[in-house]
Amino acid sequence: MRFIADLHLHSRFAYACSKTLSIEELTKWGMFKGITLLATGDFTHPLWFDELQNDLIPIGNGLFRPKDEIIESVKKVVPKSCHREVYFMLECEVSCIYSKNDRVRKVHHLIYAPDFETVREINSQLAKIGNLTSDGRPILGIDSGELLKIVLQSSDSAYLVPAHAWTPHFAIFGSNSGFDSLEECFGDLTEHIFAIETGLSSDPEMNRLWSKLDTITLISGSDSHSARRIGREANIFDTDLTYDGVWSAIKENDRSKFIGTFEFFPHEGRYHYDGHRNCKILYHPTESADHNNLCPTCGKPLTLGVLHRVMALSDRTTAENVESYQNLIPLDEAIAEVKNVKGVQSKAVQQAYFALIDELGPELEILSSIPIDAIAAAGGRLLAEAIKRIRSGSVSIKPGYDGLYGEIHIFTPHEREKLERIGQPQQPSLF
Ligand SMILES: [Zn+2]
Ligand SMILES: [Zn+2]
Repeated sequence: MRFIADLHLHSRFAYACSKTLSIEELTKWGMFKGITLLATGDFTHPLWFDELQNDLIPIGNGLFRPKDEIIESVKKVVPKSCHREVYFMLECEVSCIYSKNDRVRKVHHLIYAPDFETVREINSQLAKIGNLTSDGRPILGIDSGELLKIVLQSSDSAYLVPAHAWTPHFAIFGSNSGFDSLEECFGDLTEHIFAIETGLSSDPEMNRLWSKLDTITLISGSDSHSARRIGREANIFDTDLTYDGVWSAIKENDRSKFIGTFEFFPHEGRYHYDGHRNCKILYHPTESADHNNLCPTCGKPLTLGVLHRVMALSDRTTAENVESYQNLIPLDEAIAEVKNVKGVQSKAVQQAYFALIDELGPELEILSSIPIDAIAAAGGRLLAEAIKRIRSGSVSIKPGYDGLYGEIHIFTPHEREKLERIGQPQQPSLF
């Protein structure tokens, strides 16, 4: 069956994450968004792991469903148009901080497990290394290879995937504290790494410029810190909705089963370009090179972003064998742009968002596949045009850099006025 999976999430126990993140909240937003399979996040955290064991029921194929009370209470607040089954996969993220080859390395990895027993085993090993209770994304003084060993020894079906592989501060290929290859990070164990997460600031096109990743599958996850941001990146599968179904599709990179990904526009990610946010310096990598990668304002090294690292490590000028993917802008951001209001939390945007999914179905279907005419009928001509532009990639975005998200513009003010005028005659006129 065809389904969407968000494979990188967090709980309310992770640093800087929404205090409302619970299985119920995630299930609800899974329905709003149209995501069938969600990662649990944070299974290393003792309180969250207790909650997972209490709220989730194993369905015998490596995946879990929320218990009946949760589903019943969620269905009361989710419109019928969005009702669907939502399943969970056990997942966590570990922040490894260690020194290797005379440099401090800070690398985040995702870990996946098929059952509670495996999680218990992983947690008991990791608890010997550091504190699992202070942060849902524990910071451990452990080498990536040692972490991989623990994962491999816990179960034949537990996997490690480097997270948001290119971001500067906490990633395997990051400019600040990463490596120049998988081998440099994992040594003899590299063969056990078969996938990386692209992260918000890179997309498959960029990753496929580097031949060393040819055998590596590119997966996506939202890494969202609140439920309303889930699915901003996600994977589309057409395979058995089981733990092994998902992982064999990923391992084999079988594109009839792992159909592709939904991606942020990489420019919108917080680390696409280089720069210094405090000094208001925003550079394309070639401009950084012209300045020896130093900030002209403060003189310190620039934060070198994802594009910079892709350009440094890649060995092709055009991408090869790129998987299918669709860049998306979250629906509430598109609505805010259409309504010309700042902030997706405004009442007008929220009302429009819920009215749309009530009428048309889940957000990711509206963004990717519901016919434009149907969107125009439910949400107006301007929104339909916005979604058409998102689907064709005709949007203008000021790139994100040094931790600042990029800024999206779908319409110029002049265009909006013009389109609104064209929209007028459709409305009945008294005159
Ligand atoms: Zn991370
Ligand atoms: Zn500076």
